[in-house]
Amino acid sequence: MTTAVTRKQLFINNDWRDAAGGKTIEVVNPATEDVIAEVASAEQSDVDAAVAAARAALDGPWGKMSARERGTLVWKIGERLMERADEIARLETLHNGKPIFESRQIEVPASAECFQYYAGWADKIHGETVPVKGNYLTYTLREPVGVIAAIVPWNFPLLLTSWKVAPALACGNTVIIKPASQTPLTAIALAEVAKDVGLPPGVLNVITGPGSKVGQMLVDHPGIDKIAFTGDTSTGRQIMRGSAESLKRITLELGGKSPNIVFPDADLDAAIRGATTGIFYGKGEVCAAGSRLLVDKSIKNEFIDKVAARAKKMAPGDPMDPKTRLGAISSKKQLETDLRYIETAKKEGATLVAGGARADIGTGKGYFLQPTVFDGVTPSMTIAREEVFGPVLAAIEFADVDEAIARANDSSYGLAAAVWTKDIKKAHYVARKLQAGTVWINTYNIYDTAAPFGGYKHSGFGREMSVHALEHYTQVKTVWVDLNQ
Ligand code: NAD
Repeated sequence: MTTAVTRKQLFINNDWRDAAGGKTIEVVNPATEDVIAEVASAEQSDVDAAVAAARAALDGPWGKMSARERGTLVWKIGERLMERADEIARLETLHNGKPIFESRQIEVPASAECFQYYAGWADKIHGETVPVKGNYLTYTLREPVGVIAAIVPWNFPLLLTSWKVAPALACGNTVIIKPASQTPLTAIALAEVAKDVGLPPGVLNVITGPGSKVGQMLVDHPGIDKIAFTGDTSTGRQIMRGSAESLKRITLELGGKSPNIVFPDADLDAAIRGATTGIFYGKGEVCAAGSRLLVDKSIKNEFIDKVAARAKKMAPGDPMDPKTRLGAISSKKQLETDLRYIETAKKEGATLVAGGARADIGTGKGYFLQPTVFDGVTPSMTIAREEVFGPVLAAIEFADVDEAIARANDSSYGLAAAVWTKDIKKAHYVARKLQAGTVWINTYNIYDTAAPFGGYKHSGFGREMSVHALEHYTQVKTVWVDLNQ
């Protein structure tokens, strides 16, 4: 599982270069604790150079290229990602710790699909003629916003980058990607792909380094027109405050504490599977993880017993083994956070029914955690309110439909939710009442590039994927032509 330490540079104007100060940051494989790469840590002058290159590209060949030609290049990025899928999936697993099954079978293909979906949009984004009063021809143009900074977290490094870069490029913008410092390798691979397929210089740039420094430089930079951010709610607030001065456009995809509601009339076997994959896919490091399991009290004990039994069988394993379904927690820091939340839940009176401790896959190394389930959680407990961002499930009971809805909505977050019932009226009634950007009925964690994704409340605003993302990467210009004789 160990690999040689590689050195990775910044990607600016289609050139690879060291950071101006020559500094680097280490990238660690969370499954082995080995340093696997040293990545350039950008300085202000590097950020300035990336912004200048991205701005120049808007006025250069990229800005002059026909929409169809641009779409063809965006399509080719998806194609090339799939040609390199094995290698890129391996990188994703190496720096994040997620199972190779997830990287190779789900996330790299979904990233490629995202580019190919938006490639199709490139020459279908157009304005309209407006029936105004008076003798005028009035029409609108949909123009790119300009230079986009894509600031991405470490949980789905390539996929969340693709959700931003693909629509941005399809709409004719240029992009500077700032991957999370823990997981920069697949953004760097994406830059290689972009150069390879013939994206002109400056259209896509990758700047690496710590978020508090390099991310902040992008937020503060007057040459950036829009920030597309996914990450923690507190960082989102900081970005919003930082963007106020230069009035940058922003879209924020933030945290979640999503409720998974199980009614007694559900297909309970399917609901048990949904409850476990809802929290344990991606090690629970999923913004939409179903981390609050709301179960009707008439079935709760039996249901939680079965969820706990499944959790106990899901031992973490070597992420590089294709059979592994639960990998390593992404970093030592995140493992410590998860363990802290587990201790707090115990102290506050929740009942631990599965997991709860660090796991060893037989190597004595790596940041592994047993899949963890708490029963007897009350809505006021920390484990019911705060995002753990790990494989830790909090089960809360409810008495009836109204209480289920009230408890589900009793959160500052509103990213996703699910309802399990065979009663079609109840399912749609509850779906309408839930304050969440995505509601799944009798399923969990299903996504498609054609379906919008984003938050209500403190889970952010703006939508990624689908036709709706195009609104965030274009601006409308109205043109009036006097036709009076
Ligand atoms: P984070 O906010 O710490 O970091 C996200 C990115 O922002 C990283 O690239 C980081 O380097 C950068 N950053 C950090 N400080 C910055 C600053 N001051 N200015 C600019 N950039 C800065 O989040 P994380 O720990 O990497 O990711 C976990 C969080 O992301 C969770 O809260 C999770 O729910 C959320 N998330 C949300 C979604 C969604 O679509 N809503 C998807 C995935 C993850």
